[in-house]
Amino acid sequence: MTEQRHTDSGPGSAAVTRAWDDLVATARRTVTDGLVVGTSGNVSVRVGDTVLVTPSGVAYDRLRPADVLGVGLDGERLFGTLVPTSELPMHLAIYRATDARAVVHTHAVHATAVSTLVPELPAVHYMTAALGGTVRVAPYALYGTDELAENMLHALRDRNACLLQNHGTVVYGDTLAQAFDRTAQLEWMCRLWLTATSVPGHAPTILTAAQVRETGEKLKGYGQPG
Ligand code: 13P
Ligand code: ZN
Repeated sequence: MTEQRHTDSGPGSAAVTRAWDDLVATARRTVTDGLVVGTSGNVSVRVGDTVLVTPSGVAYDRLRPADVLGVGLDGERLFGTLVPTSELPMHLAIYRATDARAVVHTHAVHATAVSTLVPELPAVHYMTAALGGTVRVAPYALYGTDELAENMLHALRDRNACLLQNHGTVVYGDTLAQAFDRTAQLEWMCRLWLTATSVPGHAPTILTAAQVRETGEKLKGYGQPG
């Protein structure tokens, strides 16, 4: 532990202190923006080969700088005393398989509703492209299990987001801000699809794979240059 303190990803380093602040702020936002209730959901961020994670079953507004909790990519606790999130297998599976730097898991209500209805969210809006394509639903498995992590990883192939059947959302990104924003977009798109499919006698038009691909190309240049 003491050797860790002086490394870039040790508990006292500037990078970890900043990342933990950011992680706590993001976790609190999942509650204030209505994406989770209580201690549901969890958030992680990668600093070097250390993964900072929210503790299991602790209200995010109670988290302090001293609660910082870091695990290795194999799940070994590197620092901190609280028990890590029960969804550690999902978070670590993503870091091991992708170049993700941050992961956000929520129980957002519209997304969870969609997860109980269809095997994938139809491309009802062009923002499907920002998530890598049509968002799949990972088959149900008990929360916190390796089986759930495995189902999730399949659903995430070539995507940065998926739904977990009868459970919620999992999204990753280059930063916590990006993972959070993609989660909010996914929840919004699920709400859009539920709204469009609830008009009697009508069915929404769905974008083609080519239209989604074309959007994906254009989105690479979206926003301000540089
Ligand atoms: P934790 O409090 O252990 O992170 O669990 C919440 C959750 O969403 C489990 O799927
Ligand atoms: Zn959950």
